[in-house]
This record gives sequence, structure tokens and C-alpha cells, in this order.
Amino acid sequence: MIIIKQGGGKIISGASMKEVPNILWLEEIRKEDISSVGGKGASLGEMASIGLPVPKAFVVTAQAFRRFLVETNLEKKLFSAYDKLDVENNEALEKAADTAKAMVLKAKMSQKIRDEIRAAYKKMDGGTLIVAVRSSATAEDLPDASFAGQQETYLNIRGEAALIEAVQKCWASLYGARAIYYRAKQGFDDNTVNIAVVVQQLVPSEKAGVMFTSHPITGEPLTIIEGSWGLGEAVVSGSVSPDKYVFDQRSEKVVDTLVSNKKVEIIADGDHGTKLVDVSPARQDAQVLGSEEIAKLAMYGKIAEDHYGIPQDVEWGIVAGTFYILQSRPITTIGNNKEAKGMTGQKQSAKILVQGQGAAPGIASGKVVIIRDVKDTGSVKEGDILVTRMTNPDMVPAMRKVAAIVTDEGGMTCHAAIVSRELGTPAVVGTKTATNVLKNGQIVTVDGEMGLIYEGIIAQAAPAQAAAAQVTSGHAPIITATSVKVNVSIPEAAARAAATGADGVGLLRIEHLILGLNKTPGWFIANNKEEEFVRELHDGIKIVLDAFPGKTVWVRTLDAPTDEFRNMKGGENEPHEHNPMLGWRGIRRDLQSPDQFRLQVEAFKQLWKEGYEHLGIMFPMVSHPDQFIQGKEMMRGWGVDVEKVILGIMIEIPSSAIMIEDFIRAGIKFASFGTNDLIQYTLAIDRNNENVADMYNPQHPAVLSLIHNAIQTCRAYNVECSICGQAGSDPKMAIWLVEHGITSISANIDAIAKIREAVARTEKRIILEAARNRDAE
Ligand code: PEP
Ligand code: MG
Repeated sequence: MIIIKQGGGKIISGASMKEVPNILWLEEIRKEDISSVGGKGASLGEMASIGLPVPKAFVVTAQAFRRFLVETNLEKKLFSAYDKLDVENNEALEKAADTAKAMVLKAKMSQKIRDEIRAAYKKMDGGTLIVAVRSSATAEDLPDASFAGQQETYLNIRGEAALIEAVQKCWASLYGARAIYYRAKQGFDDNTVNIAVVVQQLVPSEKAGVMFTSHPITGEPLTIIEGSWGLGEAVVSGSVSPDKYVFDQRSEKVVDTLVSNKKVEIIADGDHGTKLVDVSPARQDAQVLGSEEIAKLAMYGKIAEDHYGIPQDVEWGIVAGTFYILQSRPITTIGNNKEAKGMTGQKQSAKILVQGQGAAPGIASGKVVIIRDVKDTGSVKEGDILVTRMTNPDMVPAMRKVAAIVTDEGGMTCHAAIVSRELGTPAVVGTKTATNVLKNGQIVTVDGEMGLIYEGIIAQAAPAQAAAAQVTSGHAPIITATSVKVNVSIPEAAARAAATGADGVGLLRIEHLILGLNKTPGWFIANNKEEEFVRELHDGIKIVLDAFPGKTVWVRTLDAPTDEFRNMKGGENEPHEHNPMLGWRGIRRDLQSPDQFRLQVEAFKQLWKEGYEHLGIMFPMVSHPDQFIQGKEMMRGWGVDVEKVILGIMIEIPSSAIMIEDFIRAGIKFASFGTNDLIQYTLAIDRNNENVADMYNPQHPAVLSLIHNAIQTCRAYNVECSICGQAGSDPKMAIWLVEHGITSISANIDAIAKIREAVARTEKRIILEAARNRDAE
């Protein structure tokens, strides 16, 4: 008698093997059948049984796969390949995986199994239906070990031959390197993990996406739906920025809507596979879901959650007004409140490998890729965890791809922190040792809020979704007397920034835009490419201006320390400075490099000419009013009507806080605290040095005193006084600033909601206290 091992380590005999057929229809399946149909199959069957609109499907059972292994004598051969495999050895792992996959693909499936698959397919719709063929591993989608995405899915399969080939490919994918690694790390015995294959009518979704039936971080009864045009793969794979909707189950209302620019969609490619195509301009900015559709999806989500007793991560699609629920699996982590919702306490038991400062919120799991030199960023793949000493502007393309970012160096205001927040990518900075402690290929989970990196997968909440929840909840129309503005560094973040409903942009850092060109301004000048430089600058700023029609956008002139230019074309000509933070940067460099300054002003002039009157210009790193006057006069010389346009300064150096009255006399229209620098220059604490990070104190009395005095002076002269440093994204600081009379606060995208709330509460409290005091008099 043949002994067959099943998922979960159960042993069944050849006799019981007969009891589970090769094919099971969705209607016959319940969640207990997980060892035969895998997590996906069981979940779909269960969902169909409670009346959710699941597309028709059958499952090629795990027993069919086992029979295949036995009949082809593959079992022993396959398993011996892993006997002594060290999964941490990347090369060996890839090799073992390739060998195993090739073995499975080459082996011939028995006629019986083929015939049964064919017959089932025929029964679906005469044998011509377009189907999705999805792996459903028997260890997949369990609440404590999300294997989702480890095995393959083949979309848009039509015809018997293509279907059989896709089934066999799914089987082979059980031996992908990532899958083997995950199983080893999660303690699953490779010999006992089975795979079933779900063959399901492919819904040619006109719109589709994902839904968290409860808030993925807090567990609140807020259904978060992401949707875009075409098949849901575009949303799941992250190829598109989807619309985001938040439905409050308590009020049964859509409480937030964030419509994104959806540039691409995935659609069926003829009879086989899918393709990525451009979305027509008219549909790019159109809202995907109406409120009734959102409510209906949320209702389906609720049914699933109630049935399973646990929040679900659901994939959905809509075609010709018909709704389909394509997949549902438990959300494997709900932030810190997960116990309250009955989730397992994985975080508490998980091993913390390294920790630093939580610089961009969100949780993400993936494979570590350590980058020691920017030249190696080519090896970074979609969904990896980028681990590096410190990110550089030339790493931004790689930063766009990854699921999370971890650095050895830096603080809350370093390059990695700023860019990650804008990309909505979780980040932990200043870990000191991540590049030594973490290993290439290792699977980790990054908690960008708490600043922790855990071993293995302990969370499934997608960063974009987590961030989306925070962004969208900021969309509530709270009106505040103190303007709440937003900081932007990369134009692609403009739409997300605008969706927060911010009252304008309090800081647009153009150096990220310029550094992204990968050539220094000096290179453009030396190579007679001035026009190109001006055009790039103009176009990048215009994206942000267009996202904020009628609202003020303060663009800051170039402020890049010389070391940031080093890796770029032309960077070889940059001076080597002992301390770039105190060096040739900001307005002091522009004043001494008139060509570089003039090109920036050229771009501003064009924009003003095009009617963007709400564009204001802010000079960074000014230490004396003379610098403001000199900059203004240079602009006048280049044809700017300097009395008409909005010109202001950053207060980043104690001298400018102390001399604010002189700046006002020199004609500034506004001033904005750059606390990232103001703190470092007041306290002599390098903001990027993790060794002194604990002494970097935004609420140091000396810093607060400088800020307080400058605010009072600005108020006396009726000059707008703002803040755009990181401290403005801290609600506690925002409360203090409102109490001290600041005119506006410019915060990071992810912080707008909480800042707006803190500002509103403080303003109300001040009014209330004033009224009470009056009554008492
Ligand atoms: C600051 O110094 O607070 C600021 C906003 O500028 P940056 O972080 O770009 O130096
Ligand atoms: Mg600064």
C-alpha cells in the first residue's frame, strides 16, 4: 500500500486516497476541505456556500497532485533534492528550485487526471470558457502563515491543452525558491505541503480591486476598498495607483474617497495571458466606484468577515454591473489591536532582528536585498526589502519598487525618510546595523511605525493600503483657521498630497526633482543643456501646481548638500567638504553660482507667465537679510517683478530666527521654520547621525524659544509664519504651535489627518477657554 502524506502532516493510505476525487466542484467544498483544495479553494467554496457571488470554479485537488507525484515516481526524487538544502544559501536554493520545477514540468500527467480536468472544463461552459488557473497550496492562507502569492496564477487561459499546461505549471510553482524558503522559515515540512489548483471562470472585470473588510492597522470597522480599471491584478501587483474608498460600517456611509490618476490597466490579451495597456485619458481620473457600488462591496466584505469571524482581505471584480468576489483570505495582522479582533499575537512572539526609527508608516514583508553600492540597485526586485547604509537620490527608482526600506544611518528627516513617506513605503532608518545583521534573501517584516524589523512574515498589510487609510481619513472636511498644508518632494506624490485636502503646499523641495535627473546643475550648464534643465524643473513643479489649483505652493530653491551630488554626472566636480551640512548649500550656493540660480528662476518665470500666480518662492539656509536682498535683486535683474511675486525664507539657522524682524523689513512675504535644520544648528546635533539621534530634541527650550519669538514678530507685522520641518508633523508640536499663534503648518502627507485634527481641537479649545474666561469676568 502506498503511503501518502497530506498537508498538515496527516497520513492517509492508498484506500483513503480513492475517497478524494481528482476534481471537486466549488459547491461541494467547505472550509474543512483545506487539505484537498488548499486555502484558496476552501475559502471560495465556503464563500459560495454562504451566497457570495463567486465565479464558477472547480478544483484539481491536492490528491490529484499527489497521485501525479506517485504515478511519475517523482516523490522521492523531489524530496531528496531538499534533504540537506541550506535555504539561506541563495545560489543553492535557486538551483534546487530550478531542478525541482523542471522535474515536475517534464513529468507526464496520467491520462485519467487529464481526462477528468478536460471533462470538468467542458462542463463549465462547453470547453471554451476563459479561466484563471490559480495555485492553492494547502498551507496557504492560514491565519498564522500567509503563503499567499508564493505560488503561481495563470490568467486568461482558454482551451483544454492550455489549461492542462497551466495546472502543471501551478504544481511546479510549489517548488519556487521563494516558496521553499517561506516553508522552511515557517517550519512547514516540505514533504507534507500539497498543492491544489483552482480553475475558475475568469471574470473580464471592467473594474476590480481589493478590499480590507476592517482597517488593516487598527481593526476599526472601516472597510477600505481599492479599485482600478480592468483586471484586479493591476491593483494587486501595484502597477497602478488605485482609487481608494473608506466605508464606515457604523454610519454605513462612504467617509473618504481618493480618486487617483490611473495610467494603466491589465486586460485579457487575446486567448492567452494578459497585457498592460494605457488607460484612455478620459478614464484616467474618473472615479471607478460609485457610492452604491462601494456600499454593496462593503456588504459582501461584511458577510465574509462575519462568516469567518475574522477580517478579510478580499479581491473583487465587476463586469456589466455584476459583482464578483474572487478571493478572500484573512488579514494576517491587524496592527497592535489585533488581539482585540481575535488575531494571533504574532508580533509579540516574533523575533526582532534589528530596530531603528519608524520613519514612514506601514507594515510590509519581503526578501532582504542589501545594497552596498548604488550600481547594484539593478538587483532590486518588486516587493523586496531594500536594506542599505543610506539611500541616495539615484536610488529612487529602486525605492519605488520595494515593499519597505531599512537604513543603517539617518534620522526622521534623512533622504530615505522623506522619500519613503512620499512614496507611501514603510521605512525604518538609523538601525546602525541592518546591513550587517540582515542577510540577503532573508524574509523579514518591517514595521515602519514602530521602527522594528521582525524575522519572517508576521504581517500582510500592504504599505500602500495602510498609508491609504491614513491619507484618506485625512480627507474629512475639517475647517481650521490655521492653514494645514502639505510637504511634497517628488511630483509623483502630488496627487496623494492633494487628496489630503491640504490648504496648499508649504514646501516643495526641488532638489529631489533635480537630483532625480541624475546630472548636476553644473553638468547641464557645462554641456549647454540649460533649456533641458529649465524644462525638467518647470514640468515637475507644474505637476504639483496643477494638483493644487488656486492654492499657494511654496517652491524652495535648490538645497542639496554637495555630497548628494557626488554620484551624479558632473558630481566629480563637486568640492569635497568636511561637513556638507554646514557647507555650500541652499541660497549661499545659489548666490555664488548665478547660472545655477538663474536657471531655476527661468523655470519660475515661465510658470508665473503661464498664470500660476499662487507659486511662491522660498530661499533655504538664509542666515542674514542681505542674502534675501541679494537673491531678490538677482531675480529682479532677470526680469522678475519681485514686489509682486511671493518671496519668503526658511528659518533654519538660529540667526534667521533671531533676525526675523530685519528680514521682514527686507520684504519677505512669509517665513517657514525648517526645524530639521533649525534643531541641528541650535543644538549642534547632526540630524543624520544615528549616534546622537536621541539628543535631537524638537522640543528643546532653546528651539522653542527661537520659534516662539519669531512667530510673535511675524504676527506683529502680519507676515505669514509657517513650519515645514518634520516637527510640524507631530501633533504635540502642532498643538504647541497653534497655541503660540503660528499661521500655517505644513506636514507630511501621511500626517495631515492627525495634524488637522490636532489643530482643530486646539483652536476650539482656545475659543472655548476665551469664552469661558469672558463669562467669568
Ligand atoms: C528643514 O530643514 O526643516 C527642512 C524642511 O528642510 P530640509 O529637510 O530639506 O533640510
Ligand atoms: Mg533644511
